[in-house]
Amino acid sequence: QRPVRQPGQGVVQRGVLEARIDHAFVEPFPVRHGSLHITASVGLAFAGPGEDVSDQLVVNADIAMYQAKRRGGASHAIIDLREALLSSDRFHIAADLAAAFAGERLDVAYQPIVQTSDGLITGVEALLRWNDPLREPIRTTTMVEIAEQNGLIVQVGEWVLERSCRDRETWRRQHPESPLTLAVNVSPRQLLAPDFASTVDDVLERTGMDPAALTLEMTESIFIEDNDRTMSVLGALKKLGVRLALDDFGTGYSSLSYLEQFPVDIVKIDQGFIANILLKPGGSPMPAAITHLAHGLGLNVIAEGVETVAQRDEMVSIGCEMSQGYYYARPMPGAALADCLGASPGQGLRLPSLGTAHPRPSPSTQSAVANRRRRASRA
Ligand code: C2E
Ligand code: MG
Ligand code: MG
Repeated sequence: QRPVRQPGQGVVQRGVLEARIDHAFVEPFPVRHGSLHITASVGLAFAGPGEDVSDQLVVNADIAMYQAKRRGGASHAIIDLREALLSSDRFHIAADLAAAFAGERLDVAYQPIVQTSDGLITGVEALLRWNDPLREPIRTTTMVEIAEQNGLIVQVGEWVLERSCRDRETWRRQHPESPLTLAVNVSPRQLLAPDFASTVDDVLERTGMDPAALTLEMTESIFIEDNDRTMSVLGALKKLGVRLALDDFGTGYSSLSYLEQFPVDIVKIDQGFIANILLKPGGSPMPAAITHLAHGLGLNVIAEGVETVAQRDEMVSIGCEMSQGYYYARPMPGAALADCLGASPGQGLRLPSLGTAHPRPSPSTQSAVANRRRRASRA
C-alpha cells in the first residue's frame, strides 16, 4: 500500500486504484439490445516519487497487462519499475556475458591453495573472471548466478574446466618437481546437465590432465534437487578418479548426513567462519568443530578466506592442514602464477614474506589419515 502519484489526481493508494478499476467493471455495460458483462485484464506499473519514467511506465503497464491475460484474464498484474529495471539490468548483463563468452573475452584467475603452516603451494583454484574494459567490473557471484539462471553456465563451465586443465598441464610440464592440484567450481545446473561426467572425461582426455589432480568443488545446494540423480553423477565422477570438495561448508543446509552419504573428499570451511574466528573471546568454535568432524570422517579440510596471520595461526593450532586466502595470495592471472612458480624452481612455491608456523601435533590429523586408510581399504 505504497502511495502512488497519478497525473492530475494527487496521491492514490495502490489498492484504492485497483479497487476503482474493479468497481468500473462490476456493472454490465448497456448495449443496443441489452447489456454486456465484460472483464478486464489490467496491467499496472508504478514508479517512485520524482522518477521521470513515463515511457518506461507505459511499456511496463503493457507487459503487466499481458501477464494478466496469460493468467486467464479478469485479473491484475503489477510491475514495479525498480524491480523491472533490476531484471532488465540482469537481462543486459546476461546478453553481454553471452557476447563476451562468444568473443572469447572471459578469463580465469588462479588462487593458490597452500599448506596452512608454511604457505607451500600445493594447488590452485580456478575462478572465472570477466575483465571488460567497456563495462563496470561485475562480481563473479553475480555473473555465475545469471549464467546459472539462463543455462550459459553449462558452456562457460566446460570452457573454464578445459582452459584451467590446459594451464595446469603447462605448469606441470615446466615444473614437474612440484605438480599442482587444480580445483574447479561446478554449479548445480552444470552437474545436472546431461552427460556432465562424460564432459569431464572428454576434457581430461583432450588436455591430458591427471584425474587425481583435479578437484571439483560444489556447494551443498546440489543436494536440494534430484538427490538420486546427483548421487549417480557424483558416483560417475568418482569413477573417473577426480576428487570432490564441498565448498562454503557450513553456510547451506549442512546436513551432516551429506558428509557421510556422498563421496566427498574435501571440506572447505566457509570464509564467514574464518572471519569470525577471533571476534569472540575464546574464538568461534565452528572451524575447530568442522575440522575435527571432517577429519573424523577421513576427509581433508581447507580453510577459505584466511586474511591475517592470527587467523592462520588459529587454523594451524586447530590442525586444519590446508588454507586459501588473501593472507597467502589473492587470485591472480595465469601468467602471474607461472612467474611465481618460476621464481623458486625445484622447491614448489612458498609465497614471499610468510613466516612458518609450527603446528602443534594434531591428533585429529593423524586420525584423519588413519580413517582415510580405513575408508580406502573398505572401497
Ligand atoms: P568460491 O568457490 O568459494 O571461491 C572463493 C571466493 O572467495 C573467490 O571469490 C575468491 O576471490 C574469494 N576469496 C579468496 N580469498 C579470500 C579472502 O581472504 N577474503 C575474501 N573476502 N575473499 C576471498 P570470487 O572469485 O568472486 O568467486 C565467487 C564465487 O563464484 C566462488 O566462490 C564460486 O562459488 C563462484 N565461481 C567462481 N568461478 C566459478 C566458475 O568457473 N564456475 C562456477 N560454477 N562458479 C564459479
Ligand atoms: Mg570454490
Ligand atoms: Mg568457497
